[in-house]
Amino acid sequence: MQEILDAIQAGASGNDLANLPLPESYRAAFVKRDEVDMWDGVASEDKDPSKSLHIDQVPVPELAPDEAYVAVMASAINFNTVWTSIFEPLPTFGFLDRLGRESVWGARHALPYHIVGSDASGVVVRVGSAVRNWKAGDRVTIHCNHVDDQDPTAHDDSMLAANQRIWGFETNFGGLADLALVKANQLMPKPTHLTWEEAACNALCNSTSYRMIVSRHAAGMKQGDGVLVWGATGGIGAYAVQYVLNGGGTPVGVVSSPERAELLRAMGCEHVIDRKEKGYRFWKDEHTQDEAEWRRLGKDVRALLGRDPEIVFEHPGRSTMGASVFVAARGGTIVTCAATSGYMIEYDNRHLWMKLKRIVSSHFANYREAWEANRLIGEGKIQPVLSRVYPLEETGVAALSVHRNEAEGKVGVLCLAPEEGLGIDDAEKRDRVGEDKITLFRRMAGGAQAGGPQPAAV
Ligand code: NAP
Repeated sequence: MQEILDAIQAGASGNDLANLPLPESYRAAFVKRDEVDMWDGVASEDKDPSKSLHIDQVPVPELAPDEAYVAVMASAINFNTVWTSIFEPLPTFGFLDRLGRESVWGARHALPYHIVGSDASGVVVRVGSAVRNWKAGDRVTIHCNHVDDQDPTAHDDSMLAANQRIWGFETNFGGLADLALVKANQLMPKPTHLTWEEAACNALCNSTSYRMIVSRHAAGMKQGDGVLVWGATGGIGAYAVQYVLNGGGTPVGVVSSPERAELLRAMGCEHVIDRKEKGYRFWKDEHTQDEAEWRRLGKDVRALLGRDPEIVFEHPGRSTMGASVFVAARGGTIVTCAATSGYMIEYDNRHLWMKLKRIVSSHFANYREAWEANRLIGEGKIQPVLSRVYPLEETGVAALSVHRNEAEGKVGVLCLAPEEGLGIDDAEKRDRVGEDKITLFRRMAGGAQAGGPQPAAV
């Protein structure tokens, strides 16, 4: 890949890149099929992704006609890589095997190793014979919605497609590598004012939050809505707060430390709740919730917002869902995309039906939604929330920091990019958008990296 990187850095034309030979193998982060039992008997919180994620050479897979190879300059950690690396709630090899049974091209994915990663920025180096809109040399970001466009169920909202998958989680050949194999309909233009690592960290979380907050497929927030955002400086939460502010709503952000509260205020979120300081105990014990504690949260939200929130942005799951359903306004919406703390959730249904609330599910985003979310990043209206950057060799350490809830915003990973700060094509636009806004998380939260695991080479 060095020759390809040298060519990219020297500004080689698309034709030149297309004519460079591809290597037989490339560096990638992967888990191994024969290690899926390695955590037997170990508690979730004690599982260390740096022990199960390996960095090594893997063979370059064959290219299907509707696909592209992308030389990956940077990638990012998502929570799904944590799930894959701790083999919870189940090993991801089952997904690969199912894809493998679908078609000849699908069979390439069912391997003894799973290359992870659902975000990337980079440069297209080859396209398949059926690709029309992209060519070698294009600078791109990659969204993770992997759909078969010959499936009729994919042609309304592609998130409803029967064979919809998340690239790098339910497919192989993900973005935490020097080369990625993607469907051409996963490609989007790289925002020209961002570095490789800033451009790589957005697509998954930004698109997810766009769909949850903005899209008619989920909460469909309107101007003036109050939105309670759990994990408001986390991966999806930090984009959610921006969408609420951008769309004329009022966020109430929940975080778990004074530093995160300060970061949230610096983002422009006036109403902040530090859940650690408040010491909410929504569960009295493993089986019993405490409605008095839900009421206490509701009172705290009302004291800030002046009323109950029209929308609750929910993802912690078991620990908070009962409270989320309770605090949403009459007729309000609880929009959920995850269950980090446990997926067997419990809430008091009386509070849902008597007050005509609705729970809306959401999952990633269709191509259109991902494209619009990427466009907003490109226009400088939504900012990347990159706080830490690790080299690919330290993917496991990077994933551990997300697993332990030690990192704010997004954790970036440098793949081919030899250092941070490269890849900006439009410095003037960057100035217009504002360096301080673009790097807010790197400056205010990235400092935490100094006290945590140190990257070796950045
Ligand atoms: P993240 O960067 O780790 O942020 C999660 C935030 O949630 C943390 O910053 C933390 O904030 C808060 N949190 C964690 N545990 C909590 C608890 N028990 N109670 C209240 N708050 C808690 O993760 P992320 O990238 O935002 O992802 C969050 C979840 O969404 C993950 O489960 C992920 O798999 C899922 N997800 C789903 C989709 C989809 O398409 N369905 C897409 C992206 C992510 P504080 O500690 O500061 O409160």
